[in-house]
Amino acid sequence: MSKPELSGKKGRCIVCGEVAEGDLCFKHERALEELRSKYTSWKAAFGYNVQEYLMALQKRKETGEWTKELIAYIVANKRFEMLT
Ligand SMILES: [Zn+2]
Repeated sequence: MSKPELSGKKGRCIVCGEVAEGDLCFKHERALEELRSKYTSWKAAFGYNVQEYLMALQKRKETGEWTKELIAYIVANKRFEMLT
């Protein structure tokens, strides 16, 4: 019996499909690091859970393209554990 693979093919970014070392290409790996580190302070400041935090960031025009692509992926695939 085989389980469906959530993380996509090895060697390709799960967000944009570009060549990647792991699950994420350089751009989206950086975006994830930024998301993670910002979340710590947003959680402390506003008491957001992961979902609320991502929704709030997605609406800001200051949020970068790579970050928005990553957020869209996380929300669509319910991969909220990526931030924790
Ligand atoms: Zn990517």
